Amino acid sequence: MTHPGSHRWSRALLGAYVLDAVDRAEARQLEAHLAGCATCRWELTQLRQAADVLPPPRPSEELWKRIVADVRATEQEQGEHEQHGEADGQTKAG
Ligand SMILES: [Zn+2]
Repeated sequence: MTHPGSHRWSRALLGAYVLDAVDRAEARQLEAHLAGCATCRWELTQLRQAADVLPPPRPSEELWKRIVADVRATEQEQGEHEQHGEADGQTKAG
């Protein structure tokens, strides 16, 4: 059992903390622990470096629509190719 403010609790929450995915109460408890725990401070710097090279967890709505449109267009192209392939096979056979 990990209780808020403990070392294990803090380490488990660090990943969410660098992504701003913790609520304010959790962030304050985590920061209080960080002030006295060099291990968690080191862990936090490692996670921050990793987070810097990752894209944001959620793209903007505009970008997301373009991604979805791209994926759907690719799916349709692949589906058409498969259908052409089957039609060719049938004409040769018939
Ligand atoms: Zn700690």
